[in-house]
Amino acid sequence: MSETRLMALLDHWADGGRMATFWLRDDDAVVPTPALDRLLALTRDAGVPLTLAVIPENTDEPLKQYLQPEPHVSIAVHGWSHRSYSEPPAKNQELGLHRPMAEVLGELRQGFAKLQALYGPQFIAMLVPPWNRIAPEIVEALPALGFTSLSVFGREKPAAVRVLNTHVDIMDWHGTRGGRPAEDLFAEILSYLESDRPVRAIGVLTHHLVHDDQAWAFLDRLFALTAAHPACRWASAPDLLGA
Ligand SMILES: [Zn+2]
Repeated sequence: MSETRLMALLDHWADGGRMATFWLRDDDAVVPTPALDRLLALTRDAGVPLTLAVIPENTDEPLKQYLQPEPHVSIAVHGWSHRSYSEPPAKNQELGLHRPMAEVLGELRQGFAKLQALYGPQFIAMLVPPWNRIAPEIVEALPALGFTSLSVFGREKPAAVRVLNTHVDIMDWHGTRGGRPAEDLFAEILSYLESDRPVRAIGVLTHHLVHDDQAWAFLDRLFALTAAHPACRWASAPDLLGA
């Protein structure tokens, strides 16, 4: 079973002084909710830094007041409205070339300014494109908007800004729409650790608003196994990007 194999590998790494690095990104926060409460408690108790991708358009003081006492949370920009402008059956995309570029960039500039003003030191100049999709032309324009990093899904590719991606998505979007089986998720983590092209940090992607019991149980288990393991380190996005 993959959990057992993962633990065996980590114990072996601990003996050899090797370290697995993880980071956690959660998307779609706008207002405080019971689900966000649960995620904050879980990460705080486990000592896991959290990068929260906040949708700028309709968020305001309530979420800011609520997150301010949580020093383990960093805030990234999750597009502007999380509206899709693509024509079905094309996949959902906010940050594409469906609209004039100036309009898209104007919204991103507005989202950056709004969250930076709200969150101050908790804000990081990272763009998290809704649905992890962004046109290359828009990536090229990010430095001029003040963004210094980008986070999508999959292996990192070179870009005009630093890239810190997520690699393991705990949700089954196309099947049950609930959490994926822990067995599959541990196997995926293991495949990244055993890869001959290792990623700098394995990014775990969560969506607190839609977690079912299986999704929460996986996070509980993952943190229980890794948070205090001598061969594991949960790093914050600012730490990984600053290094
Ligand atoms: Zn999203």
